[in-house]
Amino acid sequence: MGIYIGNHVSSSGGFVAMGKRALAVGGNTFAFFTRNPRGGSAAAIDPEDAKGLIALMKEHNFGKLVAHAPYTMNLCSDKEDIRTFARNMLADDIKRMEYIPGNYYNLHPGSHVGQGEEAAITLIADALKEVAVPGISTTVLLETMAGKGSEVGKTFEELAQIMDILGNPKEIGVCLDTCHVWDGGYDIVNDLDGVLKRFDDVIGLERLFAVHINDSKNVLAAHKDRHEKIGDGNIGAEALKRIVNHPALKDKPFILETPCDDEGYKREISLIRGWVK
Ligand code: FE
Ligand code: FE
Ligand code: ZN
Repeated sequence: MGIYIGNHVSSSGGFVAMGKRALAVGGNTFAFFTRNPRGGSAAAIDPEDAKGLIALMKEHNFGKLVAHAPYTMNLCSDKEDIRTFARNMLADDIKRMEYIPGNYYNLHPGSHVGQGEEAAITLIADALKEVAVPGISTTVLLETMAGKGSEVGKTFEELAQIMDILGNPKEIGVCLDTCHVWDGGYDIVNDLDGVLKRFDDVIGLERLFAVHINDSKNVLAAHKDRHEKIGDGNIGAEALKRIVNHPALKDKPFILETPCDDEGYKREISLIRGWVK
């Protein structure tokens, strides 16, 4: 049945426009920002446009979509007004996601900005408690982070702690970013099975819902987070090929966040489709 793969598309023009953009590069899933990546107010949703995307996805056998929260959303800021802003954005985004039910909403857990991981983890769990409630059809995904600055989520343990506080509800899961885990120190090149075993032991592979498939400009454990085109970085094509074919990963939506234009994405999507056994 092949692979669900796509890129991060521009959200201008609404839902159907995004779906068509994904199709134009050969995708059968995609990622998009729910609002300006720098945050702020979001454009009103046209329910008919949402229905149009649902129909298009059905017609073309799309996998789950992986929406992305704005980068500025810091649920564990040391400043209350920034936390409130983040919580409001999160709540509004979850409402918006329900126009296209049953998809994924991925977020960066946040940066603790000097407060330490423990305090931050409590703040993040607190914020998620309000929105990831029974009844929502969206699955909220915490992204594995590279550990740049004071980012929370650079270890599987930190993500597990957030989910443990919440009681591991089915509405919360994880999105694994290959560049981030590599930069975070998980050797997916030489020991993919070991890393996934670790993920399973600490979080549980049943909580892994999506993959951001990126190469990295940096070496293992660099804690930098600079994505590279597929095959041009330190992870490399062979390791990424093993990732898309791994039994624990192969049915997930794979999202490219590589530094490409549309022609580049088209090439990468077709390259990766060719890798699938
Ligand atoms: Fe991200
Ligand atoms: Fe990512
Ligand atoms: Zn990144």
